[in-house]
Amino acid sequence: MHVSEIEVSLDTRSYPIVIGQGLLKDQALFERLIRGKKVVIVTNETVAPLYLAELESTLSNFDLLSFQLPDGEQYKSLEYFEKLNSFLLENNCGRDITLVALGGGVVGDLVGFVAACYQRGVDFVQVPTTLLAQVDSSVGGKTAVNHPLGKNMIGAFKQPQAVVIDTQTLSTLPAREFAAGMAEVLKYGIVFDRSFWQSLIDDKSLITALDEKSLVTVIKRCCQIKAEIVAADETEKGARALLNLGHTFGHAIEAEQGYGVWLHGEAVAAGMVIAAKVAELRGYLSEDDYQEIVNTIASYDLPTKKPESMQTADFVKHMKRDKKVQNSVMRFIIPTEIGHCEIMDDLTAQELELVLK
Ligand code: NAD
Ligand code: MG
Repeated sequence: MHVSEIEVSLDTRSYPIVIGQGLLKDQALFERLIRGKKVVIVTNETVAPLYLAELESTLSNFDLLSFQLPDGEQYKSLEYFEKLNSFLLENNCGRDITLVALGGGVVGDLVGFVAACYQRGVDFVQVPTTLLAQVDSSVGGKTAVNHPLGKNMIGAFKQPQAVVIDTQTLSTLPAREFAAGMAEVLKYGIVFDRSFWQSLIDDKSLITALDEKSLVTVIKRCCQIKAEIVAADETEKGARALLNLGHTFGHAIEAEQGYGVWLHGEAVAAGMVIAAKVAELRGYLSEDDYQEIVNTIASYDLPTKKPESMQTADFVKHMKRDKKVQNSVMRFIIPTEIGHCEIMDDLTAQELELVLK
């Protein structure tokens, strides 16, 4: 079995990320990672029938409860934040409780936020079951719920006690969700690591066939990159912003189309192509690198074009609202070569118009 362990170094809040196939069954691992005796597994109605019984049996030496959410981004809400808190209170959970988030980024973000707030903070362990959650949302301690006026608008930085990634769970993930996660994987290559990027091209058929060794290698590299960035810039004051490549345009697409019509990863994929095009038109990125970005994104069944209906003004409107806007300057990330990105803050609407054509 291929098992890897990485550490996220944050002084007293450091924690391990453990990656391997079949880890949901690893009793000794969970008993090493969880400090208390009492555990609440939180999952959703889609993931529960697939993996809850297995994890419950692994955690059978703990005083164990479980809580299920409906499936969907709309339940990452204050309403379900309250429901989970009520469940914990009704079951007399104290500060020694450990919450275990079993699911995708929706479950992880909500559980993390509850863990940050319940009795001023309790332990939580991330057990991400989507590719996106395994390479991105479960690592780094950003937690949040949505507000009717904006996505992720209420939240906290709260690092987990551990992240346990069982690559086996990806076998049941719908292909479209897998591809969406690959957008974030490709992002790490474009922003930080050209040789990793090359391996995503070379090993494409192994990766999409869910070859165990390849998946562990890919997920591990993504977690390493994210762990390094988070250790250097926990609260996104500097380098962590580079992880937003494609996201400013991507958020505009997601919001304009209506959340859920385009998956986040799909919007980020198209957003990365737009950012690359801006860079190419400016002469910051070579034509070859631009073409390689487009071809590779397309090869993973991801979109490389904005939605037909969206015009420049639609992008500008959303980009001005984005959390990443600082002092009303449109600030975003562009690749200057595959493996390196920079912050750019002087994009004009005319230029965007040209790129979107
Ligand atoms: P998700 O949690 O909605 O999961 C996608 C779908 O896959 C859901 O229907 C889910 O029930 C299902 N699913 C999960 N695991 C499965 C499995 N193993 N087999 C079959 N089906 C499975 O979506 P996501 O893409 O994982 O996460 C998106 C969320 O993550 C968004 O709310 C986003 O804001 C958040 N996010 C947070 C961060 C962060 O740093 N905290 C980063 C990126 C994204
Ligand atoms: Mg993202």
